Amino acid sequence: MTTQKKGLIPTVPGHIANLVPYPPGKPIEEFEREYGVKNPIKMASNENPLGPSPMAMEAVSQIISSLHRYPDGSGYYLKAKLAEIYGVDQSQVVLGNGSNEIIDFLIRVFVDKSSEVISSDPSFLVYRKMVQAAGGNNIMIPLKDSCHDLDAISRAVTSKTRLIFLDNPNNPMGTVIQARRFRDFLQNIPEDVLVVLDEAYMEFVREPDTPRGVDYIHKDRRIIFLRTFSKAYGLAGLRAGYGIMDPGVAESLEKVRQPFNVNIMAQAAALAALDDKKHLDQTRTVTWQGMDELFLELREMGCTPLPSQTNYILVDVGTDAGKIYKKMLKEGIIIRSMASYGLANYIRITVGLPEENRKCIAALKKVLDRL
Ligand SMILES: *Cc1c(COP(=O)(O)O)cnc(C)c1O
Repeated sequence: MTTQKKGLIPTVPGHIANLVPYPPGKPIEEFEREYGVKNPIKMASNENPLGPSPMAMEAVSQIISSLHRYPDGSGYYLKAKLAEIYGVDQSQVVLGNGSNEIIDFLIRVFVDKSSEVISSDPSFLVYRKMVQAAGGNNIMIPLKDSCHDLDAISRAVTSKTRLIFLDNPNNPMGTVIQARRFRDFLQNIPEDVLVVLDEAYMEFVREPDTPRGVDYIHKDRRIIFLRTFSKAYGLAGLRAGYGIMDPGVAESLEKVRQPFNVNIMAQAAALAALDDKKHLDQTRTVTWQGMDELFLELREMGCTPLPSQTNYILVDVGTDAGKIYKKMLKEGIIIRSMASYGLANYIRITVGLPEENRKCIAALKKVLDRL
């Protein structure tokens, strides 16, 4: 192996050099390499514990013999189906290599050095990292009572504001916006600012008074909503997501898109998963029951879990979350420390299968008792 001498690559601009890579949940393979133990329980990345939809798996196996072909770059059938589901035109649908890619498109299209992008602190780390990578300016508004502070966000808008990212539900809190507050908020936002509702967990929301992008998309050109196949649909490994938006905005996004950004298996699986109502219903039932059980158990053991509208639960463990994370790994359970979100005493647990939830609770009890 040759090692490159320091100083031999071109200078990296300051805003890139200062970037900290996104800290993903520990992959199962990495755990197995490091601990020499097989089959840890992963409850770290809000994946579907039931696995992919059987219909999606069947669709992938059907398409395998076509892997020598490029995918349909326009994603025609998937776009058509999504347009039908939401009652929009196909020209309003943009497909992404995960919904993360739509976030990337939006920032590449609308953000330059003079632009400001507003998001909440804490919220999904990807927004601010991509804004920084684009050389733009992050305006971070602290959550209020664990929810987006819509009043403070609208006050923070300036003539330089291009985008407002609202993860609804919020990651990591699991809280949702109230519909009335959202309607009032929109009244205070200028015509030329785009409001991005990231609805990665909307399938899990039980609170009826939650604003959904689909209810606004027909009346308000500024609304964009993002959805993903990575969470409730159980296809995180394939990378498929989408955004629904004004056709003019979509047209600009299409300009920066790589021609074959969503691969052939992802398109086939996503299309099939949309038809698999049974899998989605089962996913919701397992998640909601598991959530309610975890919540009670966590409270009983003296932790402070936050009520959540998602498939994950944020928990104040009252002590260094990084330490708890490491001790849980030794018990064979991968959870998430929220220290990188600035929440030093918080862990985040993804709801698993009933057996996984029980093992997680037992391990956490053991770890906390031995501190
Ligand atoms: C998981 C997640 C996404 C989805 O990312 P993909 O790229 O679609 O896998 C988007 N937003 C939030 C807030 C998430 O937690």
